[in-house]
Amino acid sequence: MDKSSELKLESKVSNCKYIFVVGGVISGVGKGITASSLARILSDRGQIVTAIKIDPYINIDAGTMNPTEHGEVFVLDDGDETDQDMGNYERFLGVDLSRTNYMTTGRVYQSVIERERNLEYKGACVQVVPHIPLEVIRRIENARDKVNADVVLIEIGGTVGEYENILFLEAARIMKLRKPNSVFFVMVSYLPVPGNIGEMKTKPTQHAVRTLNSSGIQPDIIIARSKMPLDEKRKEKLSMFCNVPIDHVISAPDVDSIYDIPLNFEKEGLGDMICGTTGMTCGPAINEGSIKWKKFAKSTHVKNNVVNIAIVGKYFNTGDFTLSDSYLSVIEAIKYSSYKAGSKPVLTWISSMDFEKDPKSINTLSKFDGIIVPGGFGSRGIEGILKTIEYARKHNIPYFGLCYGMQLMVIEYARNVLGLKDANTREVNPSSKNIIIDIMEDQKDKLEKKNMGGSMRLGAYPATLKKGTVAYKAYGSAEISERHRHRYEVNNAHREAIEGAGLVFSGLSPDGKLCEIAELPGSLHPFFLGTQFHPEFKARPLSPHPLFTAFIKACQKSKKNTK
Ligand code: GLN
Repeated sequence: MDKSSELKLESKVSNCKYIFVVGGVISGVGKGITASSLARILSDRGQIVTAIKIDPYINIDAGTMNPTEHGEVFVLDDGDETDQDMGNYERFLGVDLSRTNYMTTGRVYQSVIERERNLEYKGACVQVVPHIPLEVIRRIENARDKVNADVVLIEIGGTVGEYENILFLEAARIMKLRKPNSVFFVMVSYLPVPGNIGEMKTKPTQHAVRTLNSSGIQPDIIIARSKMPLDEKRKEKLSMFCNVPIDHVISAPDVDSIYDIPLNFEKEGLGDMICGTTGMTCGPAINEGSIKWKKFAKSTHVKNNVVNIAIVGKYFNTGDFTLSDSYLSVIEAIKYSSYKAGSKPVLTWISSMDFEKDPKSINTLSKFDGIIVPGGFGSRGIEGILKTIEYARKHNIPYFGLCYGMQLMVIEYARNVLGLKDANTREVNPSSKNIIIDIMEDQKDKLEKKNMGGSMRLGAYPATLKKGTVAYKAYGSAEISERHRHRYEVNNAHREAIEGAGLVFSGLSPDGKLCEIAELPGSLHPFFLGTQFHPEFKARPLSPHPLFTAFIKACQKSKKNTK
């Protein structure tokens, strides 16, 4: 296929609208939340919406990226290890997305190179342009076809002017050229207020728009992020110098709760304006979905009934900052269940290594209503976590272990109740005589070959719950499906002995071979439960996760009883 005929190649006739969301000035101002909120309002207005995240990294997926730098690795049903923004989309939209909705530079190049090796370009000279942008477009259209979307929101990572995302902007430009009435651009920009001037400055945004213009793209809408709301004068300035109508400049000041943003956007007229601009036939701003959302958003402002939760892990700090972003889904899952139960959650991040350095400091845990040990890897801080779990078990503090937090909970039980003093996980001490948590059979080979990327047990798997258990009561059903990301599992050779000592494996894989949930019966502890899976990935604002809800209720109860 020669270049010109390929460029002319029209995709299937579709009325779908494509909205690209790009960043200006600085990153980290909430482009993902903006895209998610936009997705939410359009979906509430009756459109079938899907969202795509473009990460400009060479990495094939986020699984190999350091979460303390890049944020949480969000796992999808199909096992794709993606960026945390995918979690935002799923939560705001209330849908399950798939690997079609996530792309990285690595992925795009990988498929072009594979196709070239398969002679699919039929002898053409395969070039960065047009073949890379065309592959990006092919992927966007695949995501559209997957759900027959009316609207595809595409968030391009980073900010305009970065070398890394130029080819993605080029893809967007080509799409606009092909379908001028179906492709739109939203720039999420930032308006700083320099301390010595105290005035909100529009100039960086003007420059960002010029930079975008140099890629052949004109934004249709500017969402102006700032500390305070934008005044009329700044709106006029942005309109004039950035070449957008004044009602297309949307003020997006900082908010206490990100869940107010879809409501604020509607107040600013963004919903009506975007429907008008794109020519979509949209339902009204107030609708069934928006009413539910409003009720939820209101619940996020709860001020009393505090539940104090300690999150204990190996380390949360980098420099002077606590990187709670690496556990974004855990935080959100806690919030949804707390709000549902009418409580305000207060989270304290504790490094388990503190308990190793100063064993007496473990008593500080007494002031918490509940303790969570989230997922993790490696051996740092493990003894401190085991001490934490022992403390929670013995002092009847509700405990919820997620993945590693479940594996360590079983080890703690084996050590201190069953009396296997050197009980451990192969991950930490392969020469222990009592390997309670062992490498999964199909993971051995991968580990030996250093085949690390995308090779864990990933994604959604079903599990069956034992009737009458804490887990069963929480879910209200025996069949569940949850998302995973692990290499190790409970060693079946020790299962009987551990169960004999009182710990219950209340959730198993359907073939009974893999322990998915461990718990102490409700009669012995207010809440002592761990999951091999990551329940946090399926918690949604409008449908909080049943296990988090059960945990929060236990925290509320133990607070009443003890304080
Ligand atoms: N490191 C453990 C494993 O690989 C737990 C992983 C996790 O917590 N996600 O099995």
